[in-house]
Amino acid sequence: MTRRPFVLYSLVSLLWLSIGHLDRDAMGAPAATVLMERASTCDRQLLASTTLQRLRSSWQRCIQRYATLVSVYPHHPLAKTALQRQAELTKDLSRRSGNRRDVEDAEKLFARSRSMAVTPPPVTAAADTSSPETVTSSASRSRFLVVVDPGHGGKDPGAIGIGGLQEKDIVLDVAKRLQALLKSQRRLVVSLTRTDDQFLSLEARTAFAAERRADLFVSIHANASPRREAQGLETYVLGRSSDADAHATAERENTVPGERTLDTQVVIQAMLADLSDTTREEHSLELAQTVKESFVRTVGKRYPVVDLGIKRAPFYVLLNTGMPSILSEIAFLSNPEDEKRLKLPSYRQSIANALAAGITKYAASPILARSTE
Ligand SMILES: [Zn+2]
Repeated sequence: MTRRPFVLYSLVSLLWLSIGHLDRDAMGAPAATVLMERASTCDRQLLASTTLQRLRSSWQRCIQRYATLVSVYPHHPLAKTALQRQAELTKDLSRRSGNRRDVEDAEKLFARSRSMAVTPPPVTAAADTSSPETVTSSASRSRFLVVVDPGHGGKDPGAIGIGGLQEKDIVLDVAKRLQALLKSQRRLVVSLTRTDDQFLSLEARTAFAAERRADLFVSIHANASPRREAQGLETYVLGRSSDADAHATAERENTVPGERTLDTQVVIQAMLADLSDTTREEHSLELAQTVKESFVRTVGKRYPVVDLGIKRAPFYVLLNTGMPSILSEIAFLSNPEDEKRLKLPSYRQSIANALAAGITKYAASPILARSTE
């Protein structure tokens, strides 16, 4: 009677022992040592660069990396060190930001770190074989959180068409339609960074996704170009600008009226640190490709679609904390034809359908049998 569970237990223990030295565990999560190395690298880069220290997202990225280790391996001996470092970085961030919430977060983390005993894992006694928290892993697998970010809002209208149509209104409408479509999918949870005409800083948008530990981030925008004839769909991932137009688009989207203008060079520096995470880049490209193809197929059924391809540019809003992220410029408001179509609810619905189909396909794709970071 008890023999079979014992054999199973031995096999499982053996499996954990044998994978202790590999980069990934059987469920696809990187080993604790790998997560620690990623967090420490992020930490070192941050401390070495006063430029990086000026960006809240740089702090959040490193804090998040330590948090990932703690949440995936709460019983690993490295967890206490990671939690302590997470607390220290949060405290340093609070000194810079002066933000009351950061202060409170740091205090809570220090309290947690003090009460965390370095205990052996509950199942096996060998430290290196401590398994990822099954509850965390299965929980993160059962819920797939998509953060949809309608660009601009409030005092920041974004691009304005010749007929007066404002980017902030169009992208909010598309985002709400997209949310309604994705909500009906059982596994997907959807959050919008804004649900009305309110102003949100670029930092608040990235923080929104990071704090919720989203699985992916889709920022929706409508383009503008001094060339009236410019038309079509552009799908962006974070990177060095593919061309002059891509660079100009990122500069425009990084500029918020009435706010401190972000130096694109600062974004590029932070981005280079961020791009060391090649897994995220690979996933972002996969997401961009899936969404773009879906757009061309779905919207293209009823309307002509000019596909300007997948591009790279240093968008601040894509500098978030480790999740695959794209920015979709769904059309050119500066093009009278695109603007006329964007006025049609049926056209906006068609765009939402396309984005929803792309995101759903990506969420179901094998590439997501992936690391937890
Ligand atoms: Zn925009």
